Amino acid sequence: MKKYQGSCHCGAVLFTFQSDSVNTGMRCNCSFCKRKGAVMSTFTLTSEELNIDAGQGALELYQFDSKLAKHYFCRTCGINPFLESMTKPGNFRVNLGCIDAIELDQLELKLFDGKNLL
Ligand SMILES: [Zn+2]
Repeated sequence: MKKYQGSCHCGAVLFTFQSDSVNTGMRCNCSFCKRKGAVMSTFTLTSEELNIDAGQGALELYQFDSKLAKHYFCRTCGINPFLESMTKPGNFRVNLGCIDAIELDQLELKLFDGKNLL
């Protein structure tokens, strides 16, 4: 297991988690993710596994349609460091672009068909 550190763009929100080496990422084609263009983790973390080290109070919540997925974003810089999964409530996917140690162009990308899930 490796320890990964991530942050939003302005640095208000800092988070860490442990994971096997991250080699894959996920793009989602739902109306929100299409606009955001982020590469999210294929794995999920429980709230115990995702450590929010700073900035809990800087986070805002955005929800739409079914309101099953919880998209958290920094109120200052607007970056979404993680979301609570629509398919696995209580579990979080992290925005891999928020992690300095991960190069997005080295990941094998998978598509999540969020558009047709609702
Ligand atoms: Zn921020």
